[in-house]
Amino acid sequence: MASESSNPGGQSEVVTRFAPSPTGFLHIGGARTALFNWLFARHHGGRTLLRIEDTDRKRSTQEAIDAIIEGLDWLGLDYDAPPLFQSDRAERHAEVAWALLNAGHAYKCFATPEELEAMREEQRANKKPLRYDGRWRDRDPAEAPEGTPFTIRLKTPNEGETTIHDRVQDVVTVKNDEIDDYIILRADGTPTYMLAVVVDDHDMGVTHVIRGDDHLNNAFRQLPIIRAMNAIEGNWPDPVYAHIPLIHGSDGAKLSKRHGALGVEAYRDEFGILPEALFNYLLRLGWGHGDREEITKQEAVELFDLDGVGKSPSRFDIKKLENLNGHYLREADDARLAALVAARIGETADLALLEKAMPVLKVRAKNLNEVAEGAAFLFAKRPLEMTEKAAQLLDGDGRTILRKICDRLAGENDWTSEALEATTKALAEEQGLGLGKLAQPMRAALTGTTTSPGIFDVLVLLGRDEALARLDAQAA
Ligand code: GLU
Repeated sequence: MASESSNPGGQSEVVTRFAPSPTGFLHIGGARTALFNWLFARHHGGRTLLRIEDTDRKRSTQEAIDAIIEGLDWLGLDYDAPPLFQSDRAERHAEVAWALLNAGHAYKCFATPEELEAMREEQRANKKPLRYDGRWRDRDPAEAPEGTPFTIRLKTPNEGETTIHDRVQDVVTVKNDEIDDYIILRADGTPTYMLAVVVDDHDMGVTHVIRGDDHLNNAFRQLPIIRAMNAIEGNWPDPVYAHIPLIHGSDGAKLSKRHGALGVEAYRDEFGILPEALFNYLLRLGWGHGDREEITKQEAVELFDLDGVGKSPSRFDIKKLENLNGHYLREADDARLAALVAARIGETADLALLEKAMPVLKVRAKNLNEVAEGAAFLFAKRPLEMTEKAAQLLDGDGRTILRKICDRLAGENDWTSEALEATTKALAEEQGLGLGKLAQPMRAALTGTTTSPGIFDVLVLLGRDEALARLDAQAA
């Protein structure tokens, strides 16, 4: 018997879901899966849903649930219904297990854990794959002593093969005898993960299952439940599957903490990445539209489809993310950036001044940390702390030159960068010096560092009094 997964005919509305297990934060791979599901649904005018797969009570935490929901929200991914919690639905999952049992698509297995361990031990010894051998598949349950605990196992097809037409992996075929009769309901009456996923996807009306390709094998285990329920009730169509390749590190190995496989909040908080930059970066990680790098959310909704998803793993590259981030920083509204940067600087930050300074602060920055570092001089208190290099610029005749600059600028009435530049240039010429010879000690005196925005912008941003006071404080 050969069976093929089919496109659910007659279903006009696309429904996708993101189904994270809240055992950790929303990491980069999960965020990308969420993004692709969201984009696919939005592109097709469908719905997208969030399901928290919290059935592993020991490993699921409220902290992780909050981080996932917050991370999705920060990325700008919204859902068409409140999140569904898998753990709330155990009764419904069990109901389906019993329906499968009653219709003969599943059976009770009375094998004890010790017996199953002995079975595996023997398989190991004979170098056979470790699989349940179907010992209760055709046995009369009446043979089990009264009151013996049992699990419910799915009666999966033993012959033939199953083919999935995956929208990313293309045609994938697995022999049915490779899928054992696995447990769908445990002896304590709780559903297994494999059953829960299928029942929830059906009940949520999910038409397209888009997830990491580490779940491709699961699709071959999940389809027999879907097919059996379809035989019993009808209206349990196969979903369309799209298993997307995992993300690898820049060295080609599977992404791990070592490569920066952190929660999205780490990119927000520690790396100072804007959500639209991460959105764009995750989109480009495994999906392409020609060689376009910069794609806005709106364009992404217009352009995204599964055809553009590549089959080979993509490599995570923090430099590319930062380059995109630099682009979005330059595009971003200055008042918004000022608020984000102020939060990094703390109480000393002056929001209005930050906003005014933002056009010059953000030009070369690749992340919010760099903007905050670049802005620090604005709020520094006299006497300014000097970096070692800045102090060196004031050695020699640096302080003597500063005195001349200070005196000259004190007479300047037009405190604009154009006028200040003209005055400083004139002084440089008079002294027979290059502009740099003046600008370097000025920068040191005004900012305490050797890198800053253009020196005349710095003078203007600090304002006449503060700028002159800083120059005077370092002048000989
Ligand atoms: N909960 C699974 C995970 O976080 C996803 C299950 C699925 O998408 O079917 O890996």
